Amino acid sequence: MFKPTLGIIGGGQLGSMLAIAANKLEIKTVIFCDDIDAPAQKFSNDFVHGQYNDQNKIKEFISKVDVITYEFENIPYETLNEINRIKPVLPKPSVNRIIQHRLAEKDFINNLNIRTTRYASIEKKSEMDSVEDLLPGLLKTVTMGYDGKGQHPVHTLESLDSIDIDYSKGYILEKLVKLKKEISIIITRFSNQKYEIYEPIENVHEDQILRNSKIPAEISDKILNQSKLWATQIAEELKYVGTLCVEFFIDRNDNLYVNEIAPRVHNSGHLTINAYNVSQFENHVRAVCKLEQIPLQKKSNAEMLNIIGDQIIPYRNKKFAENEFFFDYLKKDIKDKRKMGHLTTLIS
Ligand code: AMP
Repeated sequence: MFKPTLGIIGGGQLGSMLAIAANKLEIKTVIFCDDIDAPAQKFSNDFVHGQYNDQNKIKEFISKVDVITYEFENIPYETLNEINRIKPVLPKPSVNRIIQHRLAEKDFINNLNIRTTRYASIEKKSEMDSVEDLLPGLLKTVTMGYDGKGQHPVHTLESLDSIDIDYSKGYILEKLVKLKKEISIIITRFSNQKYEIYEPIENVHEDQILRNSKIPAEISDKILNQSKLWATQIAEELKYVGTLCVEFFIDRNDNLYVNEIAPRVHNSGHLTINAYNVSQFENHVRAVCKLEQIPLQKKSNAEMLNIIGDQIIPYRNKKFAENEFFFDYLKKDIKDKRKMGHLTTLIS
């Protein structure tokens, strides 16, 4: 079987884990990242450092690889499209164009008759007056936000006077869902109607950052089936190739909503490394490199804890039990709210 060289755009922890998975499959990897200290270069065969719009660096990167994927969604669409004209980019750039824009993403999901929270586009402050029924809500930038960045809770119209918002950036106002739980589905699509889908993962966020994840999720069979069906419909409609994550809200009346789609491997799926025969990372590499699809088998229940900021320090010298798996992302600097590592514990 032909083993292509895989180019990965982005060199953070997801890039590292993709490179480790590829290595296990004897697939060579080249990381392209704008951070000279990108941790993923430690696990890849080659590294190109450059800005994501640097034509010479993009050319150098393309010349070294056969197929290209990415570990984060905020790469300019133009860059991905340009690369795709020369070597295949998977998932295809048009997927990224929809998903990196919160309004386009929500419109896409609603057009599939899949429920999201109610929302409105906001481009000037005066537009807030006509959408008072979406309060309390969250005002989010339509692009570039993650882990709560670029998000403002809005309880009343009066409260807007005290926050400094540049409306010209483009915002979406989302009605706040009264959350009972959050879950995610990780699915890898290989081709038409060919998938591997993991069971729903239950997630807890603190300050809008994922804190921990576990399987099995404590949810009804109805929610389990609905979430899997919706994730499959989304992957199919996008003609997606690779691993995709759909994040969901469950409200206090047990209604399911899609919160957002991540067109990539996802933090909530880290536990698949130890809890399944094939991880989300290996499945992504298998799908984009057109390797064999292997039926998923769960080996164990599991919990994953994200290690954030200086919480990493004691973990670096800790002794772990046989059912505990610690991953240090080897980031150069410890920063507040930065994901530094994670701990997966297998539970029988
Ligand atoms: P996001 O970056 O949009 O995924 O938001 C991060 C986290 O903020 C989510 O996982 C939720 O915990 C919370 N959140 C975001 N949007 C909403 C919403 N419309 N209603 C309730 N909670 C939300």
